[in-house]
Amino acid sequence: MELKITDMRVADIEGLPKHCILLKIYTDRGIVGLGEVRDASSATYALMLKSRILGENPLNVTKIFDRIKQFGGHSRQGGGVSGIEIALWDIVGKYYGIPLYQLLGGKYRDKVRVYCDTDVAGRHTGRDMGKALKKRMDSGFTYLKMDLGMDLLLDVAGALNAPAGSLDELKKYNLKAITHQSGSIDKCLMHEKNYEVFTVPHHVTGISVTQKGLDYLENYVKEVRDTIGYEIPLAIDHIGHIGAGSIIALAKRLEKYNIAWMEDVAPWMYTEILREISRRTTIPICTGEDIYLAQNFEPLMRERAVSVVHPDVLTIGGAMEAKKLDGMCDRYGIAAAIHMAESPVAFMAAVHIAASMKNVLAVEFHSADYPDWFHLVKGLPKPLIRDGYVQVPDAPGLGIEDIDENTVKKYLHKERGGFFEETSRWDEEWANDREWS
Ligand SMILES: [Mg+2]
Repeated sequence: MELKITDMRVADIEGLPKHCILLKIYTDRGIVGLGEVRDASSATYALMLKSRILGENPLNVTKIFDRIKQFGGHSRQGGGVSGIEIALWDIVGKYYGIPLYQLLGGKYRDKVRVYCDTDVAGRHTGRDMGKALKKRMDSGFTYLKMDLGMDLLLDVAGALNAPAGSLDELKKYNLKAITHQSGSIDKCLMHEKNYEVFTVPHHVTGISVTQKGLDYLENYVKEVRDTIGYEIPLAIDHIGHIGAGSIIALAKRLEKYNIAWMEDVAPWMYTEILREISRRTTIPICTGEDIYLAQNFEPLMRERAVSVVHPDVLTIGGAMEAKKLDGMCDRYGIAAAIHMAESPVAFMAAVHIAASMKNVLAVEFHSADYPDWFHLVKGLPKPLIRDGYVQVPDAPGLGIEDIDENTVKKYLHKERGGFFEETSRWDEEWANDREWS
């Protein structure tokens, strides 16, 4: 059982639709583990850990995780630690010939439900959105999510109440960043004034939705439901940075449309705000894609501030942290949906982890409109998603044979390096890592 980590390399891609960072960890026995850094993140979060894992035995996943855990953080900062943890599990699986779900204690289900994000570009009506969602249903998806938020109201006179000039500023600087779903957040959307406007918390923007705005959004959802019917779950995301009062008023209007959950209606760290919103509506409140480590979900769960937790396996810290979260779901009576906006590497990690979790609703999927997404890796069944489910593979590790070089090279990120180029400049990175003296 002696195995040594010898190298770590990355390939940044874009256009399917997100900026994704594929990760490989190499060993002295020829086994290569696949992982991925969180979407729209930086490979640096993984590469800075290379010197900490070189020479280690990759089979000791927990020991290595404990060493590098201190370098992870919330949102994209969790991407390096999490991506490495996933790649280590892939190595363990390939070494022993065992699928990841089995390493995590076996599976609760043979196939995992996928929930499909849907967006409609530009000015459109609830009927247009309904038609787009209906198309998803026709292709077999059984669980849906759409955007519903203040971007729909920016051109509707009298729909939003805001400090004079602030809506113009919003339109000018960060509309795409704050409301977008497909495509990647890139640097130009998140620096200087853009960054300032984008990072004002919901409760400080001073923006509220008027009765006219609420009428508009309610009618939009009614048109959606008139098109797709009432029998399929429909979640709502990207509502925008508006205060809790407007979120509650909107939730009350939408209760009769059977909303599966409202997502990220306040920054996740404000437990009391989320608790207040949760107590004042019957719509389940959901957050978690930016939370690092299972323990940081617990205040929200203990206070019943959320009914659905939404971990990203590439932010929470990987497979074992997701399993810990599942235990907490059991204890507090809360469901989990898995956030996923990356490549098939992250997707398959999420599928194995979801199969091994008891309290899972579905795994997210963003790339239904990007056929090449399915060709980024080799060895997965075709079609991968059938009738809205993924069959959990029995091949070792993640169940992926390898990266598909031709497809990945077609989508290499224009500004971020090449195809798994050498990374020896990171071999000597060092700090006195101990967390206490
Ligand atoms: Mg989201």
